[in-house]
Amino acid sequence: MGFVGLMELFSNSSGYAGNPVEEQDMIARALIKKGKKVIKINRGDPAVYFKTPKYIVDAYVKALRNNRSYYEYFYGAQELREAVAARYRRMYSLSLNVEEDIIVTNGVSEALIFLNNVLMNRGDRAVMFKPFYTLYINLLEISGGKAVYGNYNEKDNWLIDLDHLRRTLRGMKRLKYMLITNPNNPTGTVLGRKTIKEVVDIANENDLILVSDEIYDEILFNNAKFTSLAQLAKGTKHAILNGASKNLDSPGFRMGYIIIPGDDKVSSGLKELVVKYAQMRLSVNTPAQYAVAEGMNNIKEHRKAMSYMVGEMADRANFTYKLINESKYMEAVKPNGAFYVFPKLNIRDMKIKDDTEFTRRLLLEANVQVTRGSGFGSKNHIRIVTLPDKNIIQEAMDRIEGFCRKNKREA
Ligand code: PLP
Repeated sequence: MGFVGLMELFSNSSGYAGNPVEEQDMIARALIKKGKKVIKINRGDPAVYFKTPKYIVDAYVKALRNNRSYYEYFYGAQELREAVAARYRRMYSLSLNVEEDIIVTNGVSEALIFLNNVLMNRGDRAVMFKPFYTLYINLLEISGGKAVYGNYNEKDNWLIDLDHLRRTLRGMKRLKYMLITNPNNPTGTVLGRKTIKEVVDIANENDLILVSDEIYDEILFNNAKFTSLAQLAKGTKHAILNGASKNLDSPGFRMGYIIIPGDDKVSSGLKELVVKYAQMRLSVNTPAQYAVAEGMNNIKEHRKAMSYMVGEMADRANFTYKLINESKYMEAVKPNGAFYVFPKLNIRDMKIKDDTEFTRRLLLEANVQVTRGSGFGSKNHIRIVTLPDKNIIQEAMDRIEGFCRKNKREA
């Protein structure tokens, strides 16, 4: 359990930590100050585009009026843990122990901090998949851990390359956990039952704790069928991460939770230590916990809100995907969940070195901010957030197309 320190983190070999993103934000701010109309399709924040449902906001206000501004139980409010258990019973026919299995956190981010602090000693390894959600690597490395990489295979619709994974893990020492993201950020892929079953087998073969980040599990479209790891991992050491940032459209509440269902020795030990961390930070935002409990329990309002929001998200994602694949300069796999598309740039057709130069110059010259693929571990890709109105997406894609054409390599 080591704190490596910021200097070391920022000079590490992986090079994924922060800087280019911060630089992009600085450039965007400067451009906006100069009066430029910058289109930002770089942040996966649904609340910027869809209002947090009124019934959830009302529950937050009600909690405040009921003086719920005290420290809540560090494990999480009983009402919220019961709401989470009811959600998993309803959606996945799971029977969780409300008193022990669910620990409420300040977003999935805090759950990841806890997991890394509990599991990693300096030099330990965790299995990540490229392309990854960037914070996974930053949080792993700041705890002294190192990533071992499996692949989501673009040629196979971004599904997991299982043979490569088996080969990579063979004989590998000091492996502690493996983390999958389903549905995925940045690719929008939804993993099928068969793949998850195989990953469970591989986790067991390598005696790993398997963690699934399912923060987008209600943002599904194009007939995607979602299976929670918890439905297939009985008897396997595992944990599920989820929260309110995406499904309940309230990222600013900072609400998440970790579910550790097993009662084997490792799972019990993990639970015990995660709870110790929870105890040390005293409480999670109290009124937000009651708002989120209502967000989950009021099934009628929740369904109504989701049917509108996910309907719109599907439409916008499919529209973005269509425009991308009409372009000569990039191609993408169709997303079936979350709110991202992750196209590969046909970089050889342009007078541009790589995705880092592409995103930087796109922002400066066409005033569109996207995220470079290298930050997710996949060079020469870009991540586009598909949340804005279609007319904004259209304008962004027109600008991107114009930028690519201007930088086209002559045949
Ligand atoms: N996990 C994934 C896959 C995400 O995409 C994000 C945010 O974009 C998070 C976790 C962060 O979650 P939270 O807001 O609950 O900290």
